Amino acid sequence: MKLSNYLLPILKESPSEAKIKSHQLMLRSGMIRQSSSGIYSWLPLGFKVLKKIENIVREEQNKAGAIELLMPTIQSADIWKESGRYDDYGKEMLRIKDRQERDLLYGPTNEELITQIFKDNVKSYKNLPLMLYHIQWKFRDEIRPRFGVMRCREFLMKDTYSFDLNKQNAEYSYKKMYLSYLKTFEKLDLNAIPMQADTGPIGGDLSHEFIILTDTGESEVFLDKNLLNINIKNIDYTKNNIDKIIDKFSKLYSATDEKHSTSEFNRLVEKKNQLHTRGIEIGHIFYFGDKYSKSLKALVNTKEGKNINPQMGSYGIGVSRLPAAIIEAKYNNEFMKWPKSVTPFHVAIINLGKNGDEVDKKSNDIYTFLKNNSFDPLLDDTSESPASKFKNFDLIGIPYQIIIGSKMKKEEYEFKELGKGKMILSKSELLNRLKEIYHSDQ
Ligand code: ATP
Ligand code: MG
Repeated sequence: MKLSNYLLPILKESPSEAKIKSHQLMLRSGMIRQSSSGIYSWLPLGFKVLKKIENIVREEQNKAGAIELLMPTIQSADIWKESGRYDDYGKEMLRIKDRQERDLLYGPTNEELITQIFKDNVKSYKNLPLMLYHIQWKFRDEIRPRFGVMRCREFLMKDTYSFDLNKQNAEYSYKKMYLSYLKTFEKLDLNAIPMQADTGPIGGDLSHEFIILTDTGESEVFLDKNLLNINIKNIDYTKNNIDKIIDKFSKLYSATDEKHSTSEFNRLVEKKNQLHTRGIEIGHIFYFGDKYSKSLKALVNTKEGKNINPQMGSYGIGVSRLPAAIIEAKYNNEFMKWPKSVTPFHVAIINLGKNGDEVDKKSNDIYTFLKNNSFDPLLDDTSESPASKFKNFDLIGIPYQIIIGSKMKKEEYEFKELGKGKMILSKSELLNRLKEIYHSDQ
């Protein structure tokens, strides 16, 4: 993409309504714009990051054996009345009437609808286990929308639902999702810690929140510092391996404030390893048995010919909260650096020449060359001053830059990783370097 053809409305100043760095940066770098309270448009740069995150989430769900479908944003109130949550959900639910005066709502989550789909289409134990998911916009009329897309009213969520014959199998589905969340967040370069959590209005008795630690987070958390050092690289989905990894986490203390017990914390964790801090919830998993399959009368026929209510779990990831969460974790007050898995562009080409001169030609040439080699560069071909170009790119956070100025020889390119030193590379070295960066550990 050439910047002169793009929509990247950079703001020089931080808008006063933005209180935390991710909100400030997302507004300043032209990723999002508020359209009304707690409701945002995703401008091209933000949309690219959002889509990359969505795809990583999708890939890991597929690997864990979940199957994608798509349910609507608008749901009938009937199934919510049947489950009993129509009244329980309170003012967070956006209620709508259609022209026939029928009660509809904008879905805040999908336990009821997926149970209905299951009920209408699955009858036999032979179809279990089954894990279904979708990535769809949700609406919750939050009492205090704030921090930009971190806590907004319309947001994109990945939600998965598992159906099993018995509790033991349901726990295995739960563990698979637990592991797939660890892998997903690792791919996003986030150190997410699973913590015992309250189940809230969804109900059930087993629940973990996945939390990244930042002092701007809304959750108060207590944990054993050793949790920060667990290496989860190279993990696979064999049952043994799943148990081994989950064990590493679950034997160390971690809890959100609702589940925290000071006496347990002191008993289980040495003083020097106790960490009491704040964090951002990026995912939440629940096992809730037959709460919805019972109330909505979903039944499966067992091998023995009995009809039983399947055991269910639900598993959410805040996809549109993640760009903000990544910024909170990665921004260091001087510049933003996107993890390479979600960077909006692979590399920035900063053209310091003038329209039509040698430097300009060289910039356009390397831009075409990289595009022909399947890279996605952003070429700054505007007439802004060099100082302002550098400043803007520190803000946008593309992790690699190629700087084209008049001092370089014709076949030499200045290559820089944000926050690190520069190196001089030939064209073919440059290509190899980018291949190494982006194709090596995928
Ligand atoms: P919270 O405690 O933050 O309100 P929740 O427990 O209500 O979250 P879930 O129902 O478990 O959230 O939703 C799954 C995920 O969706 C959460 O882990 C979070 O990442 C995201 N999420 C929930 N509410 C919002 C919101 N208002 N804005 C953006 N993302 C949200
Ligand atoms: Mg909530």
